[in-house]
Amino acid sequence: RARRSSKKAAAMAETVGIRISNPDRVIFPGDDLTKGQLADYYAAVQAPMLVTTANRPISLIRCPQGRAKHCFFQKHDSGSMGDDVHHVPVKESDGEVADYLYVKDAKGILACVQMGTIEFHGWGSRVDPLERPDRLVFDLDPDEGLGFDKVKVAALRLRALLADLGLVTFPMLTGGKGIHVIAPLDGKAEWPAVKSFAERFSRAIAEAEPDMFTANIRKAQRKGRIFLDWLRNQRGATAVMPYSARVREGAPVAAPIDWSELEKLKAANLYSIRDADELLERAGSKLLSGWCVADQSLPDA
Ligand code: ATP
Ligand code: MN
Ligand code: MN
Repeated sequence: RARRSSKKAAAMAETVGIRISNPDRVIFPGDDLTKGQLADYYAAVQAPMLVTTANRPISLIRCPQGRAKHCFFQKHDSGSMGDDVHHVPVKESDGEVADYLYVKDAKGILACVQMGTIEFHGWGSRVDPLERPDRLVFDLDPDEGLGFDKVKVAALRLRALLADLGLVTFPMLTGGKGIHVIAPLDGKAEWPAVKSFAERFSRAIAEAEPDMFTANIRKAQRKGRIFLDWLRNQRGATAVMPYSARVREGAPVAAPIDWSELEKLKAANLYSIRDADELLERAGSKLLSGWCVADQSLPDA
């Protein structure tokens, strides 16, 4: 594919009002994709992305020189992100208070991209109320070499089991190897109850269906199984945000899907930053209207 000219690269991004420096810098070598193209991708999908990402403490994976060079996971503000990236003081488990980052709008997302961000990860709660999560995420992590067909079967099984408890769930392709099964919550329960539910549920499922699932983080326990990563559901933990790009070959993105589509899908990295138009069209379609929206409480017990 032809590289965009420096004038055109980041044109979309700049309509948002953030100047992107070095738009021609190739940050996905091998895929020949530039910082300007990544910025334009985010400018295109910012509206559906903000539905879940706005006002949520976020961590960033930044790769200022591209994905082949040094990348780092950033939780706290170094004071360099500008006025469009906001700060929220958070008391951490050691009692210290630290500033976490959040964005409210497209400028916030693009300001992060200007600073070399490729991936956006978010807490399970918004900055207010910080102590009451608005989503449960079951992160299905397949053992190395386990086929995506197995992941799909496991996701559908999880959907049915959570539905038995009265929870409506929504699937997301992570852009990596797995699927996230997400249950929106009404924000009544606090972190300890949400984490406890996620852990007890995951352990019970792993016990009932040991051929398919393990709730043990140790890789040695995974053998041919899927690790139900319930640890995404504790205070301070993050999961990749919908529409986030991934620091992986092909510049894949985390993509919301509908349960009805799952059967025909071949991999978790089907969509990439080249697919902004299709992702945007999907986001506005009937199929995904109401994605990740449900007014429901954490089940008792
Ligand atoms: P996959 O489908 O390939 O598993 P994933 O996004 O679910 O993709 P995981 O490795 O299962 O990837 O999840 C790791 C999660 O842990 C990330 O989503 C991220 O939010 C969080 N995380 C915490 N600390 C880090 C870190 N230092 N580097 C990367 N991720 C981190
Ligand atoms: Mn995962
Ligand atoms: Mn995981």
